[in-house]
Amino acid sequence: MVSRPDELVFLDTGRRPPSVGPPYAWDGRVLAISQALLDVTFCVFERYRERSVEACCFWYGKHVSDTISKACAVVVPRQINRCLNFDVPRSSILPVSEVTRREGWKNLAQLHSHPDSDVEHSSYDDLHANSRRALSIVLPNYGAPTMNWFGDVGLHEFQNDYWHYLSPHDTSKRLRFDNSDEVELIDLT
Ligand SMILES: [Zn+2]
Repeated sequence: MVSRPDELVFLDTGRRPPSVGPPYAWDGRVLAISQALLDVTFCVFERYRERSVEACCFWYGKHVSDTISKACAVVVPRQINRCLNFDVPRSSILPVSEVTRREGWKNLAQLHSHPDSDVEHSSYDDLHANSRRALSIVLPNYGAPTMNWFGDVGLHEFQNDYWHYLSPHDTSKRLRFDNSDEVELIDLT
């Protein structure tokens, strides 16, 4: 629930200005993901979906080569969840950094849910993204499992000073499924 008047200004719904720079151009980098990773991710979002609140988590993993990174862990930070936005307090990031540094993992993607099928970043999302070096993925319907991954989720990459919303075609190049089933869940809530 929206509980403070000032939060009305920061709802995760405001349209952001379109990019005035060059269009998105895929640079050849690939994030390898797996069905097991998605299964754990959807499981994390389930408990928030039951309450109809937005939520977030991170995918961590390793750079396998210059162009390929592989996600192997779902990390859930302590967070504040509301119907139309969420917060990850600054104090929640330190425990994330501690556990992931110990494993030698890199932050590869930040994920959060939206209430409906609109999965483009809001201006709130542009401002509150945890890292511009990681991808940002928006899940529809409070993170309900989707079978049409590339068509339903909103993948964003920061490029030329703008969070670009990738087309399903670019999404299918930037994210690729492999058959790994080794996924760790680090729940810091
Ligand atoms: Zn959002």
